[in-house]
Amino acid sequence: MPGSLLFVIQKHAARRLHYDFRLELDGVLLSWAIPKGPSLDPTVKRLATRVDDHAMEYASFEGVIEEGSYGAGEVIVWDTGDYWPEAEGGPAPRDREEAEELIRRGIAAGKLSFTLYGKKLKGSWALVKMRREEKAWLLLKHRDQYADPARDVLEEDHSVLSNRRVEDLKGS
Ligand code: MN
Repeated sequence: MPGSLLFVIQKHAARRLHYDFRLELDGVLLSWAIPKGPSLDPTVKRLATRVDDHAMEYASFEGVIEEGSYGAGEVIVWDTGDYWPEAEGGPAPRDREEAEELIRRGIAAGKLSFTLYGKKLKGSWALVKMRREEKAWLLLKHRDQYADPARDVLEEDHSVLSNRRVEDLKGS
């Protein structure tokens, strides 16, 4: 995979627990908040609300956001790795520049398919924008060898960086 792009999913125990799904593009992290987290079941679509872009440096953040600050609560890096966009019906992107152009077009069109090379999440996924909604997208797993309706991947609740759980950060 020439010129990798980063994805990260942070588990965030804010007032309402959610998973922040972030994709590197143009030097920032495009971000979606997913209340129910990703599912390996290809029949399940998970609401993913587009939120503000984050700085690349935030990709490795784990810790406690202070009480009184926006998003107060514990954060761990639940999964991370490279990702690469999938060209539907066209040639696969050959380098990072072509990949980023394909992602930009996918975001603008409201449908982006991509392969994740994470520790927990692998294989083909898509983000699909809900029509007539400004920020509501759906995250779904495509059918492939990594789809598994029987496995609840959220039970794997440790950080892939530190092996800590959000519960381990409470009160720290
Ligand atoms: Mn969050």
